[in-house]
Amino acid sequence: MQIVTKIISVETVSPVEIIDITPEIRNTVCSSGLRDGTITVISRHTTAFININEKEDRLLEDMVTFIKRLVPRDGNYSHNISPIDGRDNAHSHLLGLFMNASESIPFSGGELLLGKWQSVFFIELDGPRPERTVLLQLTGI
Ligand code: ZN
Repeated sequence: MQIVTKIISVETVSPVEIIDITPEIRNTVCSSGLRDGTITVISRHTTAFININEKEDRLLEDMVTFIKRLVPRDGNYSHNISPIDGRDNAHSHLLGLFMNASESIPFSGGELLLGKWQSVFFIELDGPRPERTVLLQLTGI
């Protein structure tokens, strides 16, 4: 059993943004030297998350609209009075209550075992940010 760890960077350009990171995950599995195991994908932030869903342009637009409606940016939030992170981002943290920081995906023969319509997304809820990081850790043989 071996463990391989890698960090990838993601730049975001919008307040809410859904970015497909499946290619980076596939490349990491491919170049790891491991054939069978599990890769854990974790966002290292409290206002950006990981989600597995369908990549279809209009659906991605629907998702962004839904996220913005679900928790309005301009609420009466205590966190925004003097936020320790210097950002008025209570709405982003609250949205995070309904999302996952990480996903674990099995791989076999060097291939991710995702379903046909599944992609792995990085969900930015408090952008834009010049550098977000996602940690990838593979455990396998
Ligand atoms: Zn905050």
